[in-house]
Amino acid sequence: MRVLIVGGVAGGASAAARLRRLDEAAEIILFEKGEYISYANCGLPYYIGNVIQKREKLLLQTPEAMRQRFNIDVRIRSEVLSIDRTGKKVLVRDHGSGNDYEENYDKLILSPGAEPRRAAIDGMDLPGVFTLRTIPDTYRICDFIDQKKPARAVVVGAGFIGVEMAENLLERGLEVTLVEFTDQVVVSLDMDMATFLHHHLRMKGIELILRKGAAGFSSRPDGSLLVRLTDGSAINTDLVIFSIGVVPDSRLAGNAGLELGLNNSIKVDRHMRTSDPDIYAVGDVVEVENLVTGQPCLIPLAGPANKQGRVAADHVSGRGSTFDGVQGSAVLKVFDMTAASTGLNEKQLKFDKIRYAKTYIHPLDHADYYPGATQMAMKLLFDPEDGKILGAQAVGFQGVEKRIDVIATAQRLGATVMDLEKLELTYAPPYSSAKDPVNMLGFTAVNMMRGDVAVFHYHDVADLDPNRDLLVDVRSKEESLPGSIAGAVHIPLEELRDRLDELPQDRRIYLFCRVGRRSYIAARILEQNGFTEVFSLSGGYELYHSVVLDQTAENACLSKEEQQ
Ligand code: FAD
Repeated sequence: MRVLIVGGVAGGASAAARLRRLDEAAEIILFEKGEYISYANCGLPYYIGNVIQKREKLLLQTPEAMRQRFNIDVRIRSEVLSIDRTGKKVLVRDHGSGNDYEENYDKLILSPGAEPRRAAIDGMDLPGVFTLRTIPDTYRICDFIDQKKPARAVVVGAGFIGVEMAENLLERGLEVTLVEFTDQVVVSLDMDMATFLHHHLRMKGIELILRKGAAGFSSRPDGSLLVRLTDGSAINTDLVIFSIGVVPDSRLAGNAGLELGLNNSIKVDRHMRTSDPDIYAVGDVVEVENLVTGQPCLIPLAGPANKQGRVAADHVSGRGSTFDGVQGSAVLKVFDMTAASTGLNEKQLKFDKIRYAKTYIHPLDHADYYPGATQMAMKLLFDPEDGKILGAQAVGFQGVEKRIDVIATAQRLGATVMDLEKLELTYAPPYSSAKDPVNMLGFTAVNMMRGDVAVFHYHDVADLDPNRDLLVDVRSKEESLPGSIAGAVHIPLEELRDRLDELPQDRRIYLFCRVGRRSYIAARILEQNGFTEVFSLSGGYELYHSVVLDQTAENACLSKEEQQ
């Protein structure tokens, strides 16, 4: 059997290696139009930031090593130009010699990836304006920094790559402005969770501009660049990284008449077969099924690309492996913070009109009494009827991705929040608490489902009616002195039982504390003392304050720009 593979990085290299392990007799030819195969795209921002210092560290495999270990005919600088499905052959351009030639296939696997999304705005091709996808892109950015010694950078787009680039450019000593068209960074998070990152980015010295996009770039007489924003304002800079997402590179497939899906991605079945049973496609170029909704979506991540390459190779070799949908589990380093998520976020649930409830907690990553414990913010989305896990997000300093990975595993196996309560997870004081944060999320969600506590959320506060609703701050006096929610009366939890007569029985009582634990205890006290309409603020003042502070910081940023 002769198998041709187009694209030699995540999906393509995975498929090639797996295929060889399954079929020693197959003839495997891997075409890569660039100079490198199997390189660490995910490490590129860290090379620019000098965290990864050696070029060779980015190369996971060389063509020679791949040939020797796997007996794969690796052809770099070889671009597949077209597919002749009837003749079962491809046309290849050898960029080394400039010659074009044909190769026949029995099976063809496409893994051409995605391309940085560009915008139809002026100045995209100016020197100093870059996108980042490949090793050559990386070297171009590094050379520019080394030679021109830019003092300032604007990163357009605050997705994963944008945030990583902002951090790494700052680490290289540049002044960095991060511009994002929506109201938050990292779209896989909800805005409330993203606010923790907003504060952190600002605290680290990044100027964060939200709700504005780039409208064009122009060069200035002194060699610097002018970035015009969609609201008419402008920023002077020396370097621009344009990172507003990626689009599937499906030209080959489209020209060959293969069925396309969302955003011109390639449609595939569970075995990664395209509409032509002899052609497979994997990685960023394919449309995938969302594990939660069952709907088609695009989730360009390395994990799915690698696994899909494996599934395609399995199927080519006669195995019935399937790829069963994507959760979008993702993790991001933001200086010394980590943000991670899995499943659907609240925005997607609303958009898809899926029933959900949510709970927020702020646990410590390990036992309080053991030195070095840090707090994280966690959000769990679940079906309030059957407890099915719909998605989870966490932001913090330590142990964040471990918790999201546990929840991602549980979700993949169809678990409910009742299962999260029961999970037996490793514990010793330096690592966790006897009730792990994942258990705690289960407890709080199940408390809500069983009616042990009714919760309200930070965004409900604005709708409270002072004639009917009473906000009660149950934190200690010291905690509430620096700030509280306007209109709240203050009764510390420890005094609550003795001061019940201060609370009106005919009003709805909205309790809050720092993170939601003491207000839950207070709610239990009040309910067992005859109060019927009692609510506890999920995520507590910590989350409320983060969102309010974010809006204040943004307003301050807006008025600073308006003054300029
Ligand atoms: P790619 O890995 O992009 O490989 C496609 C290859 O096909 C390219 O080398 C291209 O040159 C070649 N090709 C295209 N057309 C042809 C043709 N006609 N002929 C021959 N060759 C062709 N994902 C994560 O999960 N975590 C991360 O932290 C993360 N960080 C990232 C950071 C950066 C800067 C980038 C760019 C991506 C990151 N990703 C991350 C995404 C991840 O790298 C991709 O999801 C993954 O590489 C997709 O694999 P792929 O095989 O579909 O495409």
